[in-house]
Formats: sequence, structure tokens, C-alpha cells
Amino acid sequence: MSEICDACRKIAMYTVTIGDRDGLSMVVCEECTKKAWDEVKFKNWMIEVDDKVMDEAGVSVNDLPSCTFRPWFDEKLSPEEVAEMALGAAKWPGYDSDVGAR
Ligand SMILES: [Zn+2]
Repeated sequence: MSEICDACRKIAMYTVTIGDRDGLSMVVCEECTKKAWDEVKFKNWMIEVDDKVMDEAGVSVNDLPSCTFRPWFDEKLSPEEVAEMALGAAKWPGYDSDVGAR
């Protein structure tokens, strides 16, 4: 039995199920495994950013103006740093609004 890769949508002979939190698993072909891992890590990282923003400001990161999160993730910034940057970009009281302009 073959399966459809969640990442490239091709029918794959061999698939790997990846994911480290419930609800974030993906079934991917061998070629897509690395890319898909990055995607799962990015989603988990966004959940941590959201948790931090919620701790700091009591709102979801989804309620803030959208930021360029993906490059920040690729720069390996911590969820803590990014939560502050997102709040700064949103001109949230007490946060430096310059950082969001990076
Ligand atoms: Zn694939």
C-alpha cells in the first residue's frame, strides 16, 4: 500500500511519520523528510512563541499584526526573543518598537 506525501503530494512508496506533538505529525516521503522536519519544528516553535506572547501580553500571537516569523526561525532566534519582537512590532506598551523593523 502506498501513501500520499503530505509535503509534495506525490504517491510515495516509503513514507515516514514525523512529529513530536499530537496533531502535528506528517506523513512524508523520503525526499521530503528533512523539509518536513523543519516544518514541524517551525510549527512547534510558533506554539512556543504564542505561549510567550500569551504570558507577556495576554493575547495570542495571531492577534498581533503578522510578522516575518519564518526568517526569525531560520535565524534560530528563541521564542522569548521573538515574542518580544512581535510585541514591539505591534507597538505594545513597554516593548521596543524598533526591533520589529529588522
Ligand atoms: Zn514528498
